[in-house]
Amino acid sequence: MTHSLSCPRCGSQRITTRDYARKAGATVGTVAGAGGAAAAALGGAEAGAALGMVAGPVGSIVGSLAGALMGALFGGAAGCAAGSAVGEQIDEHVLSNFACLECRHTFSKPSAN
Ligand SMILES: [Zn+2]
Repeated sequence: MTHSLSCPRCGSQRITTRDYARKAGATVGTVAGAGGAAAAALGGAEAGAALGMVAGPVGSIVGSLAGALMGALFGGAAGCAAGSAVGEQIDEHVLSNFACLECRHTFSKPSAN
């Protein structure tokens, strides 16, 4: 991702993004997603255990662990993606997401991209 942006104050092209909301959103989303996934994980564990039952007691344990793990992983990843997508919107539209490294001026993305 290249920035062809320049600072509106001093014209420097040494611009960095701050991404505060995106990072916060990803963290919150991961936690919320993993939390929500805990419920789904229980369902996954049950389904895994039921499927594993066919293969005997060991299959049942392995199946429930796999089911719970899958639920947590997918929930966390989905939450992280959703949170960072929301945060990115906040960064771009609400916060001044760009900072000039020369004069420390902060500014948001110009609407004409
Ligand atoms: Zn500047």
